[in-house]
Amino acid sequence: MQSPWDYPDFDDHEIVHFVTDAASGLRAVIAVHSTHLGSGAGGVRFWHYAETKDAVADALRLSRGMSFKNAMAGLPLGGGKGVILADAARTKTPEMLAAYGKAVERLCGAYVTAEDVGVSVADLVAVSKHTQYVSGLPAEAGAVGGDPGPHTSYGVYLGVKAAVRHKLGKDSLAGLHIAIQGAGSVAGGLARLAAADGARISVADIDQARAQKLAGEVGGAVVAPGDILTLEADVFSPNALGAILTEASIAALRAPIVAGGANNQLATPADGDRIHERGILYTPDYVINAGGIINVASEYLGGSDEAGVKAKIERIPGRLDAIWAESQATGRNPAAVADDMARKLIGRG
Ligand code: NAD
Repeated sequence: MQSPWDYPDFDDHEIVHFVTDAASGLRAVIAVHSTHLGSGAGGVRFWHYAETKDAVADALRLSRGMSFKNAMAGLPLGGGKGVILADAARTKTPEMLAAYGKAVERLCGAYVTAEDVGVSVADLVAVSKHTQYVSGLPAEAGAVGGDPGPHTSYGVYLGVKAAVRHKLGKDSLAGLHIAIQGAGSVAGGLARLAAADGARISVADIDQARAQKLAGEVGGAVVAPGDILTLEADVFSPNALGAILTEASIAALRAPIVAGGANNQLATPADGDRIHERGILYTPDYVINAGGIINVASEYLGGSDEAGVKAKIERIPGRLDAIWAESQATGRNPAAVADDMARKLIGRG
């Protein structure tokens, strides 16, 4: 029998909270990795896990990721994550959401919950009836908040530009070829901004109609999902799935830069070394894709308007430059450098 302390993903998490509510059938894990910088903030995932230990591992891994992401985004927030264990039919009831909200409230702000896979804004509204520690609720007209996608896209666009400046010595994306994996919210925003600068866009999505629509909008080309990663381009920008950078895919890459918004792009930490050894510039995912969390945090913490959110997102390129400079100085890969910087920021350096 494995205790939470023995999980490979256990990283001195401050709280691992197991929630059972027999009346509603709710089973959840709330993991708070660090509150060094503030409340442990991060979304709640509603997911069917083959084994309960997978849910615990997910909560541990994802909450640590949120600590690092929030710290590197310069936010006064720690990292946490909720995981609700769904049954195979993914039954979700108002009673379960209420019980989840009460469990979050009982942590007195050590954890602030938000949207993640399987959880809608309507679910969060239901949760918010039972806890004040929730963010990502529908924004009132003119207020900061709402869909984080466009903010994430803007940060990714600025990060792509920073990578191009660093690796190719160019101040503009004009004439450059950007291969974009995914044609969803983040990819769409990036493609429009880059195309407006004169970049040539190739896009792939398993949803062919989505890819066609986006390519049509930006005057780009559609590529088969299996071909986008190996396309000859100036930038490969992953904006769909995680764990796409593996030993095999890294060996096949033909772009000098990888910079995109997808979460957890590296399949394993060793892949950070592999990509670095190939001389490809890697842009740590949780640094470049922080625009969305910056927006969500501004909604929760208050005191920021649209211009303030934009100004915070515009600090992303500076952070990337610092990571690449340290990587150059030490020879360590940028993902490992970013993790070390984040650890220092949360008092664990
Ligand atoms: P989305 O659902 O709007 O778009 C994802 C797209 O990827 C979909 O169109 C889907 O069909 C496509 N896709 C799935 N598998 C694919 C494959 N194998 N090849 C090509 N395309 C594939 O999601 P999104 O909000 O744009 O998020 C994209 C990525 O960015 C995710 O990894 C997400 O975790 C990450 N992210 C998003 C935000 C945000 O604010 N939305 C913030 C941070 C990180």
